[in-house]
Amino acid sequence: MNPGIDDLPVRDELRGKSPYGAPQLDVPVRLNTNENPYPLPDALVDRIAERVREAAKHLNRYPDRDAVELRTRLAAYLTDTTGYAVSRAGVWAANGSNEVLQQLLQTFGGPGRTALGFEPSYSMHALIARGTGTGWISGPRRPDFTIDLRAAEDALAEHRPDVVFITTPNNPTGNAVPRETVLALHDAAQAVKPTMVVVDEAYVEFSHGDSLLPLLEGRPHLVVSRTMSKAFGAAGLRLGYLAAHPAVVDAVQLVRLPYHLSAVTQATALAALEHTDTLLGYVEQLKSERDRLVAELRATGYEVVESDANFVQFGRFEGPGGSHAAWQRILDRGVLVRDNGIPGWLRVSAGTPEENDAFLDAARELKKEQS
Ligand code: PMP
Repeated sequence: MNPGIDDLPVRDELRGKSPYGAPQLDVPVRLNTNENPYPLPDALVDRIAERVREAAKHLNRYPDRDAVELRTRLAAYLTDTTGYAVSRAGVWAANGSNEVLQQLLQTFGGPGRTALGFEPSYSMHALIARGTGTGWISGPRRPDFTIDLRAAEDALAEHRPDVVFITTPNNPTGNAVPRETVLALHDAAQAVKPTMVVVDEAYVEFSHGDSLLPLLEGRPHLVVSRTMSKAFGAAGLRLGYLAAHPAVVDAVQLVRLPYHLSAVTQATALAALEHTDTLLGYVEQLKSERDRLVAELRATGYEVVESDANFVQFGRFEGPGGSHAAWQRILDRGVLVRDNGIPGWLRVSAGTPEENDAFLDAARELKKEQS
């Protein structure tokens, strides 16, 4: 007999569930996972090779468990780009911000506790909650995907979550949450009980506005989560990080696996941080391509959510088959976008100008077919 998952004694809450799974299809234009379309520049690739070569000489030893040099460089990057002084003690790094978020839920969530996010948002927040045995509460958004403060405050009072996620810019919708709203949500949550508020800023470098990092001042229950997967164009590196009060960094030490961040990862991330200026130059190009996608999609007659990220949510697809049929029609033209399961909407990541042209052609043809 060949046993399947259902034949194994897996935890009850995992039974019948699906893993995270954006399709990885081999098509000419892939605009479905919000990656940066630009390969790393040659000078950086050389620098990575140099740093990794050096690290390789010491792979017989465990890596620096506290990633001191890397956290120092990340703190400097945050300080330089936001004007808010962050110290190494207030920065923590892990294998992608997914692992950062997992460590936060292992520390502040867990069995008997709950986390709340305003949906639709990044689907992994709920999945990581499930994986860590944390109860998940789906908080409300308005039909235009903004957060209704009154409704949010009611949800906080009713559910009394231990952790609140605020994704800004939000994925998959692209809109940023105003600073005052984040502050009001933070304060409303604290008024109910001590609550960790995690601001997921994975896409903040693409925003028209500023990072919320300065809000950390005097707020030990606030955490800002970041990643090198998007703006640094290094999704394959798997490096995420957080900034928070040093006590939060001390707390996640209780759950992190020893030596979780390999010496190769640390060396590669340090090389990438040496090339911050070049990489942030690509971000500027992507921002203008993002704005072009918004403008062109609107000119074609689509509804588009205002975007502060490197992707755009567009619709609406209400005819037969809805957004999934539209997703397939675009794929038939060699362009992979994302169907996040939000009825009527699809999401496209900003690619190179050529990739975006191919997508826009497909989107125009689809519009003609549908009208
Ligand atoms: N947060 C958000 C909002 C995201 O969209 C993503 C990736 N899609 C992540 C976190 C995780 O990114 P990574 O693990 O690559 O840092």
